[in-house]
Amino acid sequence: MTTFRLLRRIVLACFGLALVAIMSMAGLLAFPQPLYAYHVGQGRLHLYSDRPFNELAGRAVLADVEGRLAKAPAGFRDDVGVYRIFVTNEEWRRRLVFLWNGGAAGVNYAPVGGVFIRQSDIDHNQVLKADATPVPEPRTLACYAGHEIGHSLISNHIGAIANWRLPAWQREGMADYIAMGGIVDVDALARARRSGEVDLDPKRSGNYALYRLLVAFLLDKEHWSPDELLASGMTLTEAEKRLDLSLPSGP
Ligand SMILES: [Zn+2]
Repeated sequence: MTTFRLLRRIVLACFGLALVAIMSMAGLLAFPQPLYAYHVGQGRLHLYSDRPFNELAGRAVLADVEGRLAKAPAGFRDDVGVYRIFVTNEEWRRRLVFLWNGGAAGVNYAPVGGVFIRQSDIDHNQVLKADATPVPEPRTLACYAGHEIGHSLISNHIGAIANWRLPAWQREGMADYIAMGGIVDVDALARARRSGEVDLDPKRSGNYALYRLLVAFLLDKEHWSPDELLASGMTLTEAEKRLDLSLPSGP
């Protein structure tokens, strides 16, 4: 065998192995149920966990999520898809399904599969931080699940490519708006932002309160439709400027 043919075989073998690995991973993310021994379903929503949980508490979480999705803007709440939430407590399992999103609390690989949430106390509707203390209200487990499923509602409504091209503040802000059941206190969040609260600085807080504020401001106060907003291409800077102009002057 010539060196060239040998090299070609090695390259083809590597390519084949990489393809098998990618297909296996996609299959795992699309059908991860065997990794989660505990499950409860209610209507179109399903909750899975790698640890036991109280069935009634699980159903209450699902009812909470459904209530949030039912209040999503028209065109989004009509989505009747089946959604699966996988609560992932064990560290090896979390590393496996979160892939490069290791620092995230939740991840959604739409349109491939379900949504994954990091370690949580389902019985108390809480997501747990790395030190096992609960994330404070209003960011409950139902809220996180609503956020991740919200990404699917957005993607299904505007298309996967348009969703992928959205500015991060619109994509995350709209998902958070859906997660909150559309109930966002724009004035309180605007005051918090003006006073420099860490929570309203995504870079320092790691959360999306600012993006949620901007989306809620444009939808609820400026009366944009969600479709207008998501097609606008408005940058974060432009949205912040628009919010600042609407705020009354003064401290
Ligand atoms: Zn998100």
